[in-house]
Amino acid sequence: MNQYFFTEEHELFRQSIRAFLDKEVRPNIEQWEADGQIPREIYKRFGEMGFMGVTFPEQYGGMGLDAFYAVVYTEEMVRMNSSGFSTSIGAHAGLALAHMNAEGTEAQKQKYLIAGLKGELIGCLAITEPGGGSDVASLTTKAVRDGDHFVINGSKTFISNGVLSDYIVAAVRTGGPGAKGVSMVIIDRDTPGVSATALKKLGWHASDTGEIAFDNVRIPVENLLGDENKGFFYIMQHFASERLAMALIGVSQAQLAIDLAIDYMAQREAFGRPISKFQVLRHRIAQLSSEVMANRAFVYTLYRRFEDGDYIIKEAAMAKLVATQLSDKVCYECMRIFGGYGYMESYPMARLLRDSQLGTIGGGTSEVLCEIISKMLIDSKAYKAAVPH
Ligand SMILES: Cc1cc2nc3c(=O)[nH]c(=O)nc-3n(C[C@H](O)[C@H](O)[C@H](O)COP(=O)(O)OP(=O)(O)OC[C@H]3O[C@@H](n4cnc5c(N)ncnc54)[C@H](O)[C@@H]3O)c2cc1C
Repeated sequence: MNQYFFTEEHELFRQSIRAFLDKEVRPNIEQWEADGQIPREIYKRFGEMGFMGVTFPEQYGGMGLDAFYAVVYTEEMVRMNSSGFSTSIGAHAGLALAHMNAEGTEAQKQKYLIAGLKGELIGCLAITEPGGGSDVASLTTKAVRDGDHFVINGSKTFISNGVLSDYIVAAVRTGGPGAKGVSMVIIDRDTPGVSATALKKLGWHASDTGEIAFDNVRIPVENLLGDENKGFFYIMQHFASERLAMALIGVSQAQLAIDLAIDYMAQREAFGRPISKFQVLRHRIAQLSSEVMANRAFVYTLYRRFEDGDYIIKEAAMAKLVATQLSDKVCYECMRIFGGYGYMESYPMARLLRDSQLGTIGGGTSEVLCEIISKMLIDSKAYKAAVPH
């Protein structure tokens, strides 16, 4: 299938990022998982190598490459088997910088995007609040205009890079109730009134996930990102690429689980023969691989459409829905192939299984995705792009 989507150049890029990750990331993953964060130096290494901005414009320090380079990048990141690590980089580049690139003014890009692509300034995207994450239009963090400033009060939770990032791209209420009263703003970490606490969680251990409080935080009006009261629509628009990326991560995690299980089956013996000879396990691999292959073909096809400029909001939701559920199933089934070793931290399956679980929650839960898809299918609801991507 790969030859339909990837050129020789894509495959050369794969070799180069794989070599980089094997040398500079893989040996450190255990330590970073134990630390609950990744060091700032690794962001800078990604910047130096150009990997922070594979698809970002060259004028700001990106590589300006097509979406299939981003696919290669994501697939290789998943093979490190630490969603905490890949999320730390991804929440900065794929979330905060994606908003900066799409909605930022030239001055904002000069300040945050250039330094961000070098890995020198780290960002996070703060939408979810303690009172609710799925219902974005009801968020309550308030930004009230006071002369040339906004004064912000409220809190955000479950924010990736929430404690360690240098600035926060936050969704705040600048207008009345509902979707039309939400704006995006940039809040520098060192602004008085900003505080954050790290949260403990089931998986994604190498990722810093934080709760952030804003207590009378004053930011200049120039820190508005995009048009006032258009924030909700920007968020929804970015969800298309975010959900597509999460679908890709889902199928890539599932593929990694299968690859690890096949290796293990060849080495482990039971009843005097390799467990790869047991038909029940062989058929499990055959079944799961077929499902992963079919899903991967769907995801790659959507990347082609995305690259061609289609607004694939429904299809991205569908892809994330099925791929993240598939990942959970495959990781669980493959963990069982490892028997007791599957449950051990010294083997890869335990982390893969717990890291996979976030897929059906972040970036829109499976239930919320079903709501969106069913409204589009049954009620003929149409969602239009806020700005062309
Ligand atoms: C490790 C981690 C990292 C995260 N990183 C970020 C980040 O960087 N930035 C950020 O902004 N957020 C982040 N999130 C938050 C994530 O996006 C939210 O957790 C998610 O959107 C769900 O919101 P919630 O947790 O408030 O659940 P709720 O919205 O309270 O939902 C609770 C339950 O109700 C269901 N539900 C809600 N509405 C409906 C409906 N209409 N129909 C049917 N069922 C419904 C949900 O599916 C869920 O099962 C992160 C979360 C985690 C755990």
